[in-house]
Amino acid sequence: MLSLQDLDYNEIKELIKELGQPSFRADQVFDMAMKDKDYAEVTNLPKSLIAGLAERYRARAVEVIAEYRSRDGSVKYLYRLFDGNIVEGVFMPHDYGNTVCISTQVGCRMGCAFCASGIGGLARNLTAGEMLGQVLAANRLNGGTPKKRTVTNIVLMGSGEPLDNYENVIKFIKAVSFGKGINISQRNISLSTVGLADRIRQLADDGLNIILTISLHAPTDEKRNALIPMNRKYPIKDIIGAARYYFEKTGRRIIFEYTLAEGKNSDAESAEELSRLLKGLNCHVNLIKLNYVKEKGLKSANDDSVKEFLSILQKNKISATLRRSMGQDIEGACGQLRRKYLGES
Ligand code: SAH
Repeated sequence: MLSLQDLDYNEIKELIKELGQPSFRADQVFDMAMKDKDYAEVTNLPKSLIAGLAERYRARAVEVIAEYRSRDGSVKYLYRLFDGNIVEGVFMPHDYGNTVCISTQVGCRMGCAFCASGIGGLARNLTAGEMLGQVLAANRLNGGTPKKRTVTNIVLMGSGEPLDNYENVIKFIKAVSFGKGINISQRNISLSTVGLADRIRQLADDGLNIILTISLHAPTDEKRNALIPMNRKYPIKDIIGAARYYFEKTGRRIIFEYTLAEGKNSDAESAEELSRLLKGLNCHVNLIKLNYVKEKGLKSANDDSVKEFLSILQKNKISATLRRSMGQDIEGACGQLRRKYLGES
């Protein structure tokens, strides 16, 4: 069953018309959805209207069933969907604002070698409302309203491959950046992809203004094939071509994610290869220490090799930083918490 959060403003106006209600009710219903209120908490709508709405739509798309607070201030949420599926998201406080990391699918079918989300394959795509609901719930639970937002930034970096759920993700981005709603600027939204090159080009053509993050993780096809099965379909040359196209169309610098795994992609040779690959491209590299996932067995590179890797990139004039990891003590890595929860229950 869809929720009110799946409907955009015009769709809510249509619905109110269909229900034979005066048009000002549309603003009230839209407001209730953006404040992430349940029907029982609404005081300004007639009972008959609530009954009509409730017959067709849930109020909230997701229900928060657990919160885990990290010592570093980040909070991990477990969200239950209407069909009992579970996804996870993280709220991360920063000096410049607060970021929410959301999931875009239940599970994932990309099957990357280090990632917990893909272990059981893909269960289903999330709807636009189920993505929006994760943001609105995190905003509400941290004291925000649509007018006085607590959440300022969004990253599509939780479970799932966002470009494998393209239409719903685009609808979500439009909804979350809509002026009458929570109005989060597209400039503050990052979409992370394994590198579905043709969809990256489509994203550039669709005229959104979001930050594109590409999970590169290796500098050559040989090394990348061993980590990311999807590389056989979209090899590095295609991904770099699409990245260049995205930059030309949008003027937005590309971010590359590079998770450092021991014995796979973290040696000095890889750092030199990566430097050659990215030379001349307007981009930034985010180095990430691998989060250990027991089913996968891959280990993070140690601190010395991480430091050396970073210094080689910098020596070669490639813009790069080491990403600060949050939520280490609360199974912050994508897909880990859901698996733990499913295993226990
Ligand atoms: N499917 C998308 C977005 C979700 S994964 C993508 O591939 O980008 C978000 C990021 O977390 C990706 O860069 C992914 O490679 C990385 N990641 C997954 N598991 C990880 C782990 N165990 N340790 C470190 N990073 C991980």
